[in-house]
Amino acid sequence: MTSHSIAHEPQVTDAPPWVWPRAAYVHIPFCAHKCGYCDFASLAGADHLAERYLNALEREMAMMGEPQEVGTIFIGGGTPTRLDARQLERLLEAVRRWFPLAPGGEWTVEANPGTIDAEKADVLQAGGVNRVSLGAQSFQPELLRALERNHAPDEVVKALELVRPRFPRWSFDLIFGVPGSTPEMWATDLEIALELGPSHLSCYGLVYEKGTALWKQWQSGVVRSVDEESERAMYAHTINRLEGAGLELYEISNFARPAHECRHNLVYWANDAYFGVGLGAARYVEGVRSTNTRDLPAYLRRIEAGEPATGPTERLEPEARARETAVLMLRRTVTGIDRVDFQRRTGFELDALAGAEILQNVRHGLLEDTGERVRFTREGLFVADSVLCDLL
Ligand code: SF4
Repeated sequence: MTSHSIAHEPQVTDAPPWVWPRAAYVHIPFCAHKCGYCDFASLAGADHLAERYLNALEREMAMMGEPQEVGTIFIGGGTPTRLDARQLERLLEAVRRWFPLAPGGEWTVEANPGTIDAEKADVLQAGGVNRVSLGAQSFQPELLRALERNHAPDEVVKALELVRPRFPRWSFDLIFGVPGSTPEMWATDLEIALELGPSHLSCYGLVYEKGTALWKQWQSGVVRSVDEESERAMYAHTINRLEGAGLELYEISNFARPAHECRHNLVYWANDAYFGVGLGAARYVEGVRSTNTRDLPAYLRRIEAGEPATGPTERLEPEARARETAVLMLRRTVTGIDRVDFQRRTGFELDALAGAEILQNVRHGLLEDTGERVRFTREGLFVADSVLCDLL
């Protein structure tokens, strides 16, 4: 640790976690290549800006004035492991300085197959990272090609051989509904993933995000999306197969063995506060949500001029915030919305706010109401987006 470089004691606060953050997100935008479906603040061919970017990140963190102790850190991207080992070391040192991790805290770094080697894995481990999220997406070359991923399936296995012995917790990201895929192909991906023994899996249905290369191909008819029935079959199989293997569905797209949930993401789904630094990063502090610019030159220029790189900022009215909290909490399939917890966090009684919508969805068999909490039924998960829209 670099305690000698800490200028002040970390700020400790009594404010509740939905007001003052105990979580920090740090964004690294560099990628080896831009994947066809990607809508993240990421870019290929900009590695020459990495040193300048790290300088800017440090300046942005320093703008907080004082280090902030947190319980979870998530370094995402982009591809954090696109940085070289020395740059990664520097990044971790700066993050430790400004966001010291509380004892027992969780520190996740996203890694992509083909960008992590033994030296980088050692740096992450020595630097305090204790969880790695691997962007596998698929184990089948034709599906990786359809997603325009630039790694080969065996690179996932190689990456895992580096990750498994060093980190107590790790996860795979997988995508279903890839153009050209069938439920059988998706089932094969799940089997391969399960054989590798994950304690956490994120399985997302492919989304055609407006403006992406894949979206353009889809719009022009070059690519056809998987039909609705197949996609539904894929999701249903995911839940059945993973739960049968002991990985519980704890959020609409996330599965974990007990105590292996991603604690950082639980912060988002509780609508708790969080810090965010880096290109396009969002933060939510004292009820104000703001997002940094997604334009890398503008981000660098503004931070170098000593200004915040913030773009859109909104302070939600209490009722809008409470509704948003309900929607986020409902995403957590096991706990759903706990009525007492909800009122404590938002000051609103759940039924006064959304009683009619809840009742209607309960009647349709999409939500279950135990009195203590409201959560999705299995059927409701398949139309989750429209139920969540009702509540908003
Ligand atoms: S590796 Fe991830 S962040 Fe980078 S372009 Fe691909 S999907 Fe986007």
